[in-house]
Amino acid sequence: MKRFIKNIASEREYVITREKEMPVSQYYGEDTFNFKVMRQKLPANVCKKLMRIIKEGERLDPEIADTVAHAMKEWAIEKGATHFCHWFQPMTGATAEKHDSFLEFTEFGEAIERFSAETLVKGEPDASSFPSGGLRSTFEARGYTAWDPSSPAFILRSGIGATLCIPSVFLSYTGEALDKKTPLLRSINAINKSALRVMRLLGNDRATRVIATVGPEQEYFLIDMDYYYKRPDLVLTGRTLLGAAPTKGQQLEDHYFGSIKERILSYMHDVEEELYKLGIPAKTRHNEVAPSQYEIAPIFEEANIAVDHNHLVMETLKRVAQNHRLAALLHEKPFAGINGSGKHCNWSLSDNLGNNLLNPGKSPQDNVQFLVFLTATIRAVYYHADLLRASVASSGNDHRLGANEAPPAIISVFLGEQLTKILNDIENGIITKATNEAIIDLGLSTLPVLSKDNTDRNRTSPFAFTGNKFEFRAVGSSQSIAFPVTILNTIVAESLDILADKIETKSGDVRQAAIDVIRDEIKKIKPVLFMGDNYSREWEEEAARRGLPNKKVTVESLPDLVTKKAITLFQSYNVLSPVELEARYTIRLERYIKEMDIEAKTMLDMVRTRIIPATMRYQSSVASSCLRIIDLLGEKAPVDDQKKMCATITALNNDVIKEASKLDELIEKASTIHDELEKAKFYAYTIKEQMGKLRAEADMLETHTSDNLWPFPRFWEMLFIS
Ligand code: ADP
Ligand code: MG
Repeated sequence: MKRFIKNIASEREYVITREKEMPVSQYYGEDTFNFKVMRQKLPANVCKKLMRIIKEGERLDPEIADTVAHAMKEWAIEKGATHFCHWFQPMTGATAEKHDSFLEFTEFGEAIERFSAETLVKGEPDASSFPSGGLRSTFEARGYTAWDPSSPAFILRSGIGATLCIPSVFLSYTGEALDKKTPLLRSINAINKSALRVMRLLGNDRATRVIATVGPEQEYFLIDMDYYYKRPDLVLTGRTLLGAAPTKGQQLEDHYFGSIKERILSYMHDVEEELYKLGIPAKTRHNEVAPSQYEIAPIFEEANIAVDHNHLVMETLKRVAQNHRLAALLHEKPFAGINGSGKHCNWSLSDNLGNNLLNPGKSPQDNVQFLVFLTATIRAVYYHADLLRASVASSGNDHRLGANEAPPAIISVFLGEQLTKILNDIENGIITKATNEAIIDLGLSTLPVLSKDNTDRNRTSPFAFTGNKFEFRAVGSSQSIAFPVTILNTIVAESLDILADKIETKSGDVRQAAIDVIRDEIKKIKPVLFMGDNYSREWEEEAARRGLPNKKVTVESLPDLVTKKAITLFQSYNVLSPVELEARYTIRLERYIKEMDIEAKTMLDMVRTRIIPATMRYQSSVASSCLRIIDLLGEKAPVDDQKKMCATITALNNDVIKEASKLDELIEKASTIHDELEKAKFYAYTIKEQMGKLRAEADMLETHTSDNLWPFPRFWEMLFIS
């Protein structure tokens, strides 16, 4: 099927060809090496073994690797793949792939397709160009990638090419994690162990495995591609560094959940089709609050797969946009003054029988278990709010957190009225017994229904309980969710163990012991609970009184990654060794500096090479117009107001030139600072402030200059034409 769509911005017409016209269920997951394919392509015993590796996290048996590699190759070639790659997540925050052809030659020089067990299991990309945060100099220089069988291999299509992608971890030869996936997998093991321990302790021996589940709600902007390529700031930094606010913004609130425009809907349709082929369960789509802002949310999956899939969602959003002459902006704040984008990270725990551990149960026993998991999570957030904050710290997210927009940099937990009351009752001794009647009296069995109603009321909380899961709302739209999820898993694992230790030291009925421990715990951790408006000034003051950290910017927050407390935590849970943790701190700090430096230089360049020349031309045309009128009409010509106009433009131009020079000097000065943290701070405070000043002048100038001469697409065009 073909559809013609007119691109309003460029007045060009283009064609979209729809490939599939069958029900989604018929092609869902067809580009993944999933269980169905495994059953078809693998001998029964190998298939069974592989499934155990995937489902139970068993170790990979090298014996089956050959058979699996062969089946995978056959399947991939049938799908049109010519190449394969280990697909991994270096510490850049994006994904990496190095393609190799299946092509090999026999001893007789005949061309054949080959893919061996060794190449499936291990790859050797040149590690030297990926950030290592100092790991490289300390340890072995080379790195290798290793197959992660827990995430299904898939076919990545781009243009006419197709590549078999093998999800992989990335390690140095001495075993240090050089990627984001390895610590995530380790944290998944940690939470499994600690959660099972608690469940066993409470008498639950049905479950054999606990997994973290994650559902990320991805926000993004779409603008016309023609505008995108005319803005160096968008192309180079992902956000507009300059631009006067449009006369209409989001004040009419007419975009949120509004009907989706045809062009956008065709785009979403194509995105979803691609995602379905990759077995990514895209479920909801809608307009967001800001003009041209949208959201896509999948059904939740196991943490590891959810992380991989979110990367693919981000990549697909960007790639498919090109086919529609659109640009997908994933930056946290593409337009100043307009709502930014986040990625609500829904997180919960589930056992292998499919029971959600953060779902209040029907039986008293389940309810005690629920309360222990709930308390452990709150406890974890209370003691490690600094780490959660640091996990989402980036130059982009600085425009949302702690700025004028939700959520704040103070990490607190929202529980909803009913759960708060239950915890209060336990704390105040109103509920003291763990007898069946007492627990049922809590009304816990009706909790899911009731709590669902009031949870949605608080949209301002950075960490909200929403009925049967927590929603970590401070995550940035463009970032990998691997690290925030890794931290969440690790800190909750630790709190589960601490609660288990305490329960174990008490004698008598274990459920009674659990209630007693919960009571003691709540007393200590309740400062982190907050039900009010997180955006208010009062909360900031109140949070300070409660001693909750409020690190407004990245440079204040990042050092929390390497406190003694953090080092001990990550080390004792085998998630990150001290050097691995230090490396992550270093990389994030370096990245912050580089991003800020690119922003500052791009802004300066845009002002000097485009804005000033354009406004000079305008200034000159106004000036010559005045002179000509005087020429024509003589000295008494009524040009006073026009002269004033000319003076205003000249004054604004002078201010812009002055502020640009100051920015230039500061960028120069930054290059002489050698201590990384000092340098980052210089960018965060001094340079950022100067960028603000320059922008204010330039934006003012924009509103005084001829639209014809303004060198960049303006906000109203980008936000309202598509
Ligand atoms: P809401 O709109 O109230 O936030 P939804 O039910 O629409 O809630 O879910 C939002 C996101 O939360 C979806 O991506 C969904 O898959 C995810 N989610 C739901 N249950 C869980 C869970 N148990 N674990 C992780 N994520 C979940
Ligand atoms: Mg939500």
